[in-house]
Amino acid sequence: MERPYHGRFAPSPTGPLHFGSLVAAVASYLQARSRGGRWSLRIEDVDRHRCRPQWAEAIPAALHALGMEWDGTVIFQSRHGDRYREALAHLREQGLLYACRCSRRTLARTAPRGPLGPVYPGLCRQAGLADEPQRALRLRVAGVEQAVDPVMGTLKQDLEQDLGDFVLRRADGLYAYQLAVVVDDLAQGITEVVRGADLWDNTPRQRYLARCLDGKYPATVHVPVAVDDLGRKLSKSSGAAALELARPGAEIVRALAFLGQAPPAELARAPLGEIWDWAIAHWDLRRIPRRREIPELGLERR
Ligand code: GLU
Repeated sequence: MERPYHGRFAPSPTGPLHFGSLVAAVASYLQARSRGGRWSLRIEDVDRHRCRPQWAEAIPAALHALGMEWDGTVIFQSRHGDRYREALAHLREQGLLYACRCSRRTLARTAPRGPLGPVYPGLCRQAGLADEPQRALRLRVAGVEQAVDPVMGTLKQDLEQDLGDFVLRRADGLYAYQLAVVVDDLAQGITEVVRGADLWDNTPRQRYLARCLDGKYPATVHVPVAVDDLGRKLSKSSGAAALELARPGAEIVRALAFLGQAPPAELARAPLGEIWDWAIAHWDLRRIPRRREIPELGLERR
């Protein structure tokens, strides 16, 4: 039997909600609501060096102001330490995890560059090092992994050659994004991940990790990423302008236009409830463009 639809929006609280993250929020929200599914809000705050409590509060408040209501309570990854520890223990039992003492400097010297960046050359793979503080934990990868997505198409990666064994717990003791995101998507029973296309090339390794954890990786939809007028991805931490929450309708309509949904211009002045009714009724995945060029974006030049 098919599982009931469960989507999520999973922002990292490294800054206020900006247009780029709104696009991902709107797409995941509409994908869930147009299917009568659940939509959860998960604050991805495992990296305590980059995340701030003020943004973990401001993001849900901004979504609320935009009329986007999530199901259940807000979920915080920082409270899931036990879950992540258990997942690591499970991987260790299967011989899939090992401690790594390679420093950044060693890796800068030895790691060959692959299509996704430096490839871990496996220096500690057979070393049998003890799991000690200051040592990262890496997942042994193998095989070719394929991801299929209605917007992005098909992506095949040879995990060993293109990526290498990747880090699940960092040398500073923090759980890595890859571990936290997969463990939580599985634990919450997420059936489809809708997020920015900048994360598309993470999908094969996340599928692999989910399998190692005996889980079924969700389906995915990757939506184009908003860039600034220099072509850089808008990100909270690079100081992209926060949304104008005094004009929530205009912001939502701008996100809908970015997602290729062709909202009528006058929709921006309608009450929020009406905007969402229109957006849910007209949501069409096939209209989402794979790429968004800057002039189409309608972002004001700063
Ligand atoms: N927390 C990630 C971010 O804000 C998104 C994770 C995901 O959707 O898989 O970029």
